[in-house]
Amino acid sequence: MPVIHRLSDLLVNQIAAGEVVERPASVLKEVLENAIDAGSRAIEVQLEQGGVRRIRVADDGCGIGRDDLALALERHATSKIATLDDLEHVGTMGFRGEALAAIAAVARTSITSRASGASHAWRIDGSDGSLAPAALNHGTVVDVADLYYNTPARRKFLKTEGTEYAHCDDMFRRVALARPDIGLQLSHNGRVVHRLPPGAPAARVAALMGDDFLQHAREVSAEGGLLRLTGFASLPAYSRASRDAQFFFVNGRFVRDKLLTHAVREAYTDILHGSRHPAYVLFLELDPAGVDVNVHPAKIEVRFRESRAVHQFVYHALKRVLAESGAGRIDAQPA
Ligand code: ADP
Ligand code: MG
Repeated sequence: MPVIHRLSDLLVNQIAAGEVVERPASVLKEVLENAIDAGSRAIEVQLEQGGVRRIRVADDGCGIGRDDLALALERHATSKIATLDDLEHVGTMGFRGEALAAIAAVARTSITSRASGASHAWRIDGSDGSLAPAALNHGTVVDVADLYYNTPARRKFLKTEGTEYAHCDDMFRRVALARPDIGLQLSHNGRVVHRLPPGAPAARVAALMGDDFLQHAREVSAEGGLLRLTGFASLPAYSRASRDAQFFFVNGRFVRDKLLTHAVREAYTDILHGSRHPAYVLFLELDPAGVDVNVHPAKIEVRFRESRAVHQFVYHALKRVLAESGAGRIDAQPA
């Protein structure tokens, strides 16, 4: 007869890591979102070897107190929600309290942090939970090294350094587009790749999508009921052969959502050839209670309470902007 036993915390976290930590870019996402939730104004990312060797994120946010450092690495421990009601109105990027625990189970992880008002910083070593005083002026430094060093089966699924780096770069761009108000820097193998000062949305979009996109895009700014759509959408002359320049954010979160993609596509049907794709950076804002972000750990999918109304709103808002710009039908154009 088989005997039932409880799994160790480490193994539980390593299993959970399969959902949360798919690759270096997913670590970067979680750690960046934590820095944002901490109210940071400036965030610096250093990657080595596509993020596999190291992902180090330094922020100037609220920090973590000495006594909370161990909890930060524990599964199901979070400062962001406490009740079901909080969950339904979640305004932070994170809320599950599982990312750092999962990351620490599959990589050599340390957190150095100085809580605002504290006389100095503390550093916790994720491998044994040991705490030691550390030097840091403010904020938090999360250091994640040697991803999957203890889980060789996972390590085998990592792609080349170039591919993993490209995924990290994509992730960084999404965050940078969503938060032009935050200064962001990314370096890879010691070389600075992006240095983005805080500023207006248009400046951030130009820095990441190119001036050319901005010159061939219309600004979107629409409001209806509790819905708001802002951002930039390309005119047909700037259409692309692939969907590589499509960014949709819902309440600050990058999403890839069938309903929204469809609404955008519909708005372009009369003016864009079927084989061409528009480029856009769009931000939909709505009451957090009207959207469920708790669908998947990586949270790229969302579910709308009033999905039809959302579809109609996005479709009409874009259609109007494109019609006002006088965009006529343009067939295949070079990207
Ligand atoms: P979640 O973000 O879902 O709460 P995480 O495992 O990502 O779960 O983080 C656990 C907790 O650690 C957070 O709730 C937060 O209190 C703290 N934390 C993590 N990163 C930072 C940071 N950069 N600055 C301040 N606090 C942080
Ligand atoms: Mg988090």
